[in-house]
Amino acid sequence: MTRYADFYKRSLAEPDAFWAEQAELVDWHTPPKQICDYTNPPFAKWFVGGSMNLCHNAVDRHLKDRADQAALIAVSTETDTEKVYSFRDLHAEVQRMAATMVDLGVKKGDRVLIYMPMIAEAAFAMLACARIGAIHSVVFGGFASGSLASRIEDASPALIVSADAGSRSGKPIAYKPLLDEAIRLSKHKPPAILMVDRVLCPMELVAGRDHLWRDLRQKHLDADVPCEWVDSTHPSYTLYTSGTTGKPKGVQRDTGGYAVALAASMKHIFCANAGETYFSTSDIGWVVGHSYIVYGPLIAGMATIMYEGLPTRPDGGIWWSLVEKYKVTAMFSAPTAVRVLKKQDPALLKKYDLSSLRALYLAGEPLDEPTATWISESLGKPIIDNYWQTETGWPILTIANGVDKAPSKFGSPGVPMYGYDVKLIDENTGEELKGADQKGVVVIEGPLPPGCMQTVWRDDDRFVNTYWKSIPGKLVYSTFDWGIRDKDGYFFILGRTDDVINVAGHRLGTREIEESISAHPNISEVAVVGVADQLKGQVAMAFAIVKDAALLPDAAARLKLEGEIMKLVDKDLGAVARPSRVQFVTLLPKTRSGKLLRRAIQAVCERRDPGDLTTMEDPAALQQIKDLTA
Ligand code: AMP
Repeated sequence: MTRYADFYKRSLAEPDAFWAEQAELVDWHTPPKQICDYTNPPFAKWFVGGSMNLCHNAVDRHLKDRADQAALIAVSTETDTEKVYSFRDLHAEVQRMAATMVDLGVKKGDRVLIYMPMIAEAAFAMLACARIGAIHSVVFGGFASGSLASRIEDASPALIVSADAGSRSGKPIAYKPLLDEAIRLSKHKPPAILMVDRVLCPMELVAGRDHLWRDLRQKHLDADVPCEWVDSTHPSYTLYTSGTTGKPKGVQRDTGGYAVALAASMKHIFCANAGETYFSTSDIGWVVGHSYIVYGPLIAGMATIMYEGLPTRPDGGIWWSLVEKYKVTAMFSAPTAVRVLKKQDPALLKKYDLSSLRALYLAGEPLDEPTATWISESLGKPIIDNYWQTETGWPILTIANGVDKAPSKFGSPGVPMYGYDVKLIDENTGEELKGADQKGVVVIEGPLPPGCMQTVWRDDDRFVNTYWKSIPGKLVYSTFDWGIRDKDGYFFILGRTDDVINVAGHRLGTREIEESISAHPNISEVAVVGVADQLKGQVAMAFAIVKDAALLPDAAARLKLEGEIMKLVDKDLGAVARPSRVQFVTLLPKTRSGKLLRRAIQAVCERRDPGDLTTMEDPAALQQIKDLTA
């Protein structure tokens, strides 16, 4: 580990020299004049004075050496389609999309909201934004009108790019009605809409507002849209993520720092080589999709697989068949997906030639030991856990095998990555915990390295107040995760310190779900907690108080109301946020000052000791939950 230890130390001791070297991995139109400006903490500006373009780095610069090599491999087992776009093809499609955006009035700095399923056009739209200096804001296709409306309102886009439908298990899921409803709900002036028609669901188009990609693409077949050279600090995108408060935050990312961080991670963490194939099974609606479906692999000159469908359809061998067919060298997935595959016929893992694959990277939620052991033994390949967040854009903790081979420890994502000054602090005193095996909050001393969030979109105060804390002599960024470091410097992540839950790798705010349930006319109060689940890691569980007990005379009435609430959440936030159960109580456990005791509820649901309850107002409240979940 010494080579990595030196590499890491240097990244913190001589950050300018270190990151200046990494900056050589990408193309600059104007080289940076200053590596890092941290004169206004916690706001870090990386590669100041430099100008570049993300799309140029992901697409155009590869035309010279690999124009005819695969760049984007779009596979859908939902529509039984498979199409390989070379870098040349991708270059043409992105320019058509960019010309279309310009035609629809999008200018540098404007936001473009992308609400799309996992189809090639979604990647074209992201890259087209980068090309013209527009700021994309991708909203996960599984979110419904309420979530979409709040994001439209916050991003105030000049254009929304969407599609008629997504698809799950071969059944189309119409997007257009959700989008129309979201536009109706949001106070933002309706922007132009560009619809990709997959001919899965009929669409009603609003004249003058809605445009078809099919028509505009045709108009711009020979489009030649040069890359807009933007400042390194120009925002490339915002991506909304949940926190403690109900309103999701727009995580804002820069351009130059992000390009450098991704290029460096592809080399040092993912051991990538141009011309190889990368397969990340995530979705473009999440940060992994931004960093490691679209930008990271393409910046590295790799082909990237974009997959629409389930891991088990037509059978549990589908992903491995893609590894064989496209000679995937690096694969990225989430523990939940592995747990799903573990339930499939084990012979499917032996059916395909997986010799090209060098490692499987897993992230997004804790990797439990049985899952890690099973997949590592079944594949016979290294399994590399990596821990990070929407906010950071690339791994905070993992193993950098591209710098130096190091062993993994099951249960631990690994050690701090170069550039991240990771520390553990006492939650109450803020004191740094330097010893081994002490539990504390995982924090990062500023400045955050390149690629991490610049700020919260249009809300610098929220960025400072939410994430940053002064501890003696230092300003630190909180990850809101509990952690422990062992004597060898490996970290173990022990769950969130806030009200964020992680369902199948999807990050959800319990407050958002509570707000949605509270909108039901018969509900007066509700508490949502995340409860451990064997398959999904966690599931949301709701405990609600009805306005009038007479509304729930019997089990049938309870079941009916539970169904109504689930439907309400589906419609408002999307099925990802639907609680697995809604139970009815007459009282919720609170402190005497009225604070909901979510951690105690969670402990009882998980049959753990709820800890010190001396501040609880009425113990009968917790007893009700105990009885219901016994
Ligand atoms: P997101 O912003 O959606 O990527 O969610 C980030 C959160 O997911 C982190 O703060 C952790 O709570 C959790 N997380 C991500 N990766 C891991 C991992 N490898 N091990 C444990 N928890 C993880």
